[in-house]
Amino acid sequence: MQTKIHSKFTEIFGEGGVQFASAGRINLIGEHTDYNGGYVFPGAIDKGIVAEIKPNGTDTVRLYSLDYDEQTSFGLREEDLPAQQWARYVFGVCRETIKRGGTVKGFDAVFAGDVPLGAGLSSSAALESCFAFALNDLFGNGIDKFELAKIGQSTEHNYCGVKCGIMDQFASVFGKAGSLIRLNCKTLEYKYFPFNPKGYKLVLLDSCVKHELASSAYNKRRASCENAAAAIRRNHPEVEFLSDAKRVWLDEVREQIPEEDFLRAEYVIGEVQRVLDVCDALERGDYETVGEMMYQTHFGLSKLYEVSCEELDFLNKLARRMDVTGSRVMGGGFGGCTINLVKDELYEDFIKAAKKEFAAKFGHEPKVYDVVVSDGARRL
Ligand code: ADP
Ligand code: MG
Repeated sequence: MQTKIHSKFTEIFGEGGVQFASAGRINLIGEHTDYNGGYVFPGAIDKGIVAEIKPNGTDTVRLYSLDYDEQTSFGLREEDLPAQQWARYVFGVCRETIKRGGTVKGFDAVFAGDVPLGAGLSSSAALESCFAFALNDLFGNGIDKFELAKIGQSTEHNYCGVKCGIMDQFASVFGKAGSLIRLNCKTLEYKYFPFNPKGYKLVLLDSCVKHELASSAYNKRRASCENAAAAIRRNHPEVEFLSDAKRVWLDEVREQIPEEDFLRAEYVIGEVQRVLDVCDALERGDYETVGEMMYQTHFGLSKLYEVSCEELDFLNKLARRMDVTGSRVMGGGFGGCTINLVKDELYEDFIKAAKKEFAAKFGHEPKVYDVVVSDGARRL
């Protein structure tokens, strides 16, 4: 990819470009915890965006997308919003940098990526982080890394119409090879934990389905969590978010809230604890416990939080049957991928069986993405 980008850059813009890269991400555990003030546990992956960039001494950005084989140019004022969706990510990063007092002048860039689009691996965060990091470096703005992540998040909010949290951009900017990062979504404190699963592979199976329910169900889940938190708060005023609550505090209010809200809250409180348990297990190098927690999360998402679907439950069950170490739905649910921790010697049989059995039942094969936890935003 680097070579292809370099030759295209040289062909269109000449010599002197500098290459930067950033990454997509996975989240090992900690699902639907972000808006409950709990933990997420993401890491950057070995699939990302690479861009070659050079300031061009004008007020115009000239941008070439190798994957779409399209070129565009735009100015740096708010009214210069480009027509192409893919260019808006870069335009947004420029604008958000400028809004924070940073300098951005015209530049030329060629970029490409290998994060599958819309598969739940956050190709958009990879694109934003790559350019946020690169512009900060090239124009010497000295913006700190957390703010670079926020530049990506604000780009999604203000230029792409996606009201996302901070996890994707955070992971993409802060990612380190061999480490996952536990982020406290309430305080934004974070800590790296070792993730070197020797003898295992991490593999995503993409169901390639997206059920329509997702956004209305999401709002209902949030309301249930807020309702449960409010009930607990009456007894324990220190509970700001549901993740602050102890499990027994939830039991105290069981009769006061709808059973459905109770089950949703039971999942969230359990999930916050599972993230902590997984971190402990990783410090011991105990990947069997990590895997078991992944299954527990899947169970919770499927039976208590009810955001799974037939296809994902099928893939999870198949993993269990084949003695795969860990497996769960990753992301918001109602479609997308399962993330699986698979022993090397089981890998081939598992993938073969998953493709065959899934296709027999649902009429198409799942897509397979191997991932390795890798570095995030950087200069190459
Ligand atoms: P994801 O879940 O992968 O982040 P999004 O819909 O949020 O999915 O972002 C995908 C969009 O990001 C694409 O439609 C495109 O506009 C942009 N994008 C991502 N990767 C690339 C790439 N390699 N080249 C051009 N644009 C890209
Ligand atoms: Mg995205």
